[in-house]
Amino acid sequence: MNEHALSIDTLAVRAGTLRSEFGEHSEALYLTSSFAYATAAEAAARFAEDDAYVYSRFSNPNITMLQSRLAALEGGEDAVVTASGMSAILALVLALLKSGDHLVASHGLFASTQQMFATWLPRFGIECDFAQPTDIESWRAAVRPNTRLFFAETPSNPCMDLVDIAAVADIAHRNSARLVIDNSFCTPVLQRPLEHGADIVMHSATKMMDGQGRVLGGALIGKRDDIDAIYKFLRTTGPALSPFNAWVILKGLETLPTRMAASCASALELAQWLEHQPGVRRVFYPALPSHPQHALAARQQRLGGNLISFSLEGGQAAAWRFIDATRLFSITGNLGDSRSTITHPASTTHGRLTPEAREAAGIDDGLIRLSIGLEATADLRADLIRAIGAI
Ligand SMILES: *Cc1c(COP(=O)(O)O)cnc(C)c1O
Repeated sequence: MNEHALSIDTLAVRAGTLRSEFGEHSEALYLTSSFAYATAAEAAARFAEDDAYVYSRFSNPNITMLQSRLAALEGGEDAVVTASGMSAILALVLALLKSGDHLVASHGLFASTQQMFATWLPRFGIECDFAQPTDIESWRAAVRPNTRLFFAETPSNPCMDLVDIAAVADIAHRNSARLVIDNSFCTPVLQRPLEHGADIVMHSATKMMDGQGRVLGGALIGKRDDIDAIYKFLRTTGPALSPFNAWVILKGLETLPTRMAASCASALELAQWLEHQPGVRRVFYPALPSHPQHALAARQQRLGGNLISFSLEGGQAAAWRFIDATRLFSITGNLGDSRSTITHPASTTHGRLTPEAREAAGIDDGLIRLSIGLEATADLRADLIRAIGAI
C-alpha cells in the first residue's frame, strides 16, 4: 500500500508531538533541569543511554519535540537545536572540522557568521575563503585539498543573491566536503535544501520560526551520523536551548506555513510597487522578473520570501529620512517577525564589517531592508508612501 506523505502544513502542526501520562492535547512545558528515578538501578540504566532524559543540557521532552518536528519539516533524518543560530554554526564547525581544515563560504553572509569565519576560526587553525555566491566558478576556484565544508546562505542578506544549491553541492561532493545551507530566511516552507543536495540545513529559529520576535534559538538538520557527531559536541560544551524557548518555537512552527504565505504575498506586492517609485534606484527581491537570478529562484524556492531590500538615491541621508518617516515599521535589526521591520544595514546589522567587506557584500549607504510581517498590505504601502514623500 502507498504511504501517503503528509504535507508541510500538517507536519508543522502535528509532527513530533509527545504526550505525558496526563494526555494533554497541546504540548506541555517541561521546565526541569534534571530528571529523577524510582531506583538506583533505573538511574544507572538511564545514565548509560545516550539520549535518555537525564539532564536538560543533554535533552528534554520539549527539545525532543522541536527536533523531531524540524527534521520532519526539512525532510532530514535527525536534528539538534541550540541556544541561538550562532551557537548552531559554532557547534557545526567545531564538531565537524579540526585544525588544518578549510572552509568555503559565500560573501554576504549574516554579519556574525562572516566575522566568526573570518576572524575567530583562523585562531584555531581553520581557514576560510569566501566565494561570490552567484558565480559558480568562484566556488570551484576557492577549493583547496583540505576543504571540508561549504557554507552558504540563500537568498543572502540583505542583497538577495541566490546560491545554486545543487551546483555547489556537486562541487562539495566531488571534493569529499559537506554543503551546509543557512535556511533561516526561506524556512522549509519555501525551500528544502536537502532535496537539492545539501548535507546539513542550519536555522536561526529566532527569525521566521518563532515568528513573533520573542526568543532565540538555532537548529541543524541532516543525516543521522552528522547530527550525532554534533550532538556529542553539544552535550559536553553546553549551548543548550532552554525548554521554554523550544516550547515557544514549537508554537511558532504551527503557524509557519500560514504566516509565510501571507507575508510573502504582501512582500511580492510591495516589491512590485517599490520598483516604480521615485528615488528608488533598485529593488532586490527574488520573485521579481528584474532579479538577475529569477529563474533559479523559481526552481529552488516556492515564493520570493518576506524580505525586500532596495537602494535609494541619496545615500545614508535619504535612507535615514525614509526610515524616520515610517510609523508602522519597527526600526530594528531583527526580521521574520509578525510586525514588519525596517533596517539600514550599513549603519546597524553590517556596521561592524570593514568598508571593503560591506562593498563585497553589495551593501551601499542608500540600502534599506524590509521584513514584511502580517499587517495589511495597504497599511504598509501607505506607510512607505509617506516615507518616499520624506526623502
Ligand atoms: C539571525 C541570523 C543568524 C544568527 O542567529 P541568532 O539566532 O541571532 O544567533 C544566522 N543566520 C541568519 C541568516 C540570520 O538571520
